[in-house]
Amino acid sequence: MNQMRSRPDTQISRYEALAACDALRTIGPASLLIESRPAELPHLLAIGTPNEVSSDPAAAYATVHRLPTSVLLPGLVNAHTHLDLTDIGPQPFDPDRGFAAWADMVRTRRPTSEDAIRSAVRRGIQLSLTGGVVAVGDIAGAPAGQPSLTPFQTLRDSPLWGVSFAEFFGIGRHYPATLGRLPRLVETLAELNSPNANLRAGIQPHAPNTVDLRVYDLAVRLAAGRGLPISTHLAESDEERRFVSEGTGPQRSLLEGLGIWDGSVTEVIGRGLDPVEHLASVLAITPMLVAHVNDCDDRALGTLARTGTRVAYCPRASAYFGAERHFGPHRYREMLAAGIGVCLGTDSVINLPNADRISVLDDMRFLYHRDRTDPHQLVRMATLNGAAALGLDRSGFTFEPGVRLAGLIAVDIGAGVSDDPLASVLLSASAPRLLVGAQGRGD
Ligand SMILES: [Zn+2]
Repeated sequence: MNQMRSRPDTQISRYEALAACDALRTIGPASLLIESRPAELPHLLAIGTPNEVSSDPAAAYATVHRLPTSVLLPGLVNAHTHLDLTDIGPQPFDPDRGFAAWADMVRTRRPTSEDAIRSAVRRGIQLSLTGGVVAVGDIAGAPAGQPSLTPFQTLRDSPLWGVSFAEFFGIGRHYPATLGRLPRLVETLAELNSPNANLRAGIQPHAPNTVDLRVYDLAVRLAAGRGLPISTHLAESDEERRFVSEGTGPQRSLLEGLGIWDGSVTEVIGRGLDPVEHLASVLAITPMLVAHVNDCDDRALGTLARTGTRVAYCPRASAYFGAERHFGPHRYREMLAAGIGVCLGTDSVINLPNADRISVLDDMRFLYHRDRTDPHQLVRMATLNGAAALGLDRSGFTFEPGVRLAGLIAVDIGAGVSDDPLASVLLSASAPRLLVGAQGRGD
């Protein structure tokens, strides 16, 4: 303790809360003792009931923060989002015009200048932190078809952890040139990464209807060889299924309208396969993170489990696009039961009901309201499973004594306390507050 007292840059904080909940358990009432030093991650010295934590010698030096109506949770992971689309804001979806028309709207409205991209990503970072999110799987879009490194650089200067996935397209007329550019792109991204960094660059072939299967194959082989995280959109819409299975429909019309469609496309699609089976040989190369998978029969579920594929389920996005009308209820619980690492994503702010925050806490709430999903399972999806999907140290997303915390959030559930504080968090609408994190920056 003398050593502790002799370090003026060491701060000991004690949080007294109604409860503390991670993926494994709820402690209530809860007390957390946290040591903070500049440029270091906050160190969880002790957690337990107030009596238990009072016996820790460091408790004598702590500044006490009393949060009697709040529940504490680890910082959250948003495993699939598009922060560079934040400035477009929430927009309605017109089912009559369909997914292809919506995607075309995004293509024409997305920011293209570096300044505009940087400003949108910064706003997205702010809205994420406001939502208690400390790590993201962010898709860095490709304005005018070219991958941009601006989102990676902007995230690197922020407190957020995670992966910035550089997105690209490559089908039809663009297929040969994309193949030729891939080695250089992978090399450029790999050079951005350093060992043990909390923010890494990754790669994202956009989706099976915009990237040729042969481009996927080379991209994933090259990226796996260089240790790059890999993600893609998969099995999201009815239009995607029709395109992949039959080579017809609005996605084909979109490519034709853009002058991209040529004979090379039908060399690998139109074989009657659903999107997951179409990509099965690529998924077998290395475990990757796939967003959505609204379209998932038993065979596809088996393929995802066998290949170690992780799924970023974006519940509010799936509902916004009416995925359930085409494919039935999302099978995330069956996926979890089959050992698939299902995590949560928000997708972009365009499909969210408002732009107050970009937070998977709201997706946890959405699932709890709709499905009464086990509350601790929801915390697991939004913390441990998301951290694993992004290659982060999972321990920082638990409340095990001794860990270095990636973040700590508080949700005030007010006076109406039930005997299940975590369920109360999920039933309430109150905003989360980031108390500690990320990158060791606390307040
Ligand atoms: Zn997306």
